[in-house]
Amino acid sequence: MESFELTREQMMAERRMNAKKFLSDYFKDKDIDSAEAENIPLINIENLPSRYKEQIDLLHDPRLSSTLIAVVPEKIWTKSKQPSESNAENDLVLFRADYLESKDDAAWMSHELAHCLRFKDAPEQYKADSQTPAFDDVKSEYLYPNNKVEEYAFRRQFEFLKQEGLSREQIIEKLKVDYQEQTDFNFFDKLLDQLY
Ligand SMILES: [Zn+2]
Repeated sequence: MESFELTREQMMAERRMNAKKFLSDYFKDKDIDSAEAENIPLINIENLPSRYKEQIDLLHDPRLSSTLIAVVPEKIWTKSKQPSESNAENDLVLFRADYLESKDDAAWMSHELAHCLRFKDAPEQYKADSQTPAFDDVKSEYLYPNNKVEEYAFRRQFEFLKQEGLSREQIIEKLKVDYQEQTDFNFFDKLLDQLY
């Protein structure tokens, strides 16, 4: 009998093609040589180093089996200090290669994967949520990080860190590596109030 359902191999081949296209456009915009973008390894989450298993297990969602991780060499990483970024629309996470090899003790992987899950939950809502404040009483001129998609991603990240035994103060210390603005910490405090 003929089947019109895509096999997993076909689906993953399509994901890879979409991810390649996204990375090619993304780095082209940043004036990075197209060969560099072409050579970025794309891995499935089951092929991540084993120390990432706990973060993936906490999210506990079989839909992550289609998510791809782009391992971006440090020399072409352009996103200032933060070592990771998500492209939820393409079910893709960009991770800086040297950081991927570290312990990821701030659990950025769970944060980025949570973005991908949030998009899968409600694709048509994702963009609007990214422009909707999470907390009305956190005043900032920027939509980041006080918006509903970041609220979800940071919550999953903090849940993992809390489960790992980190205190609220230890989470704040980790965030200080990448964040300096007081308004960002007003947002983080609101989330941490719900967890501690
Ligand atoms: Zn985020």
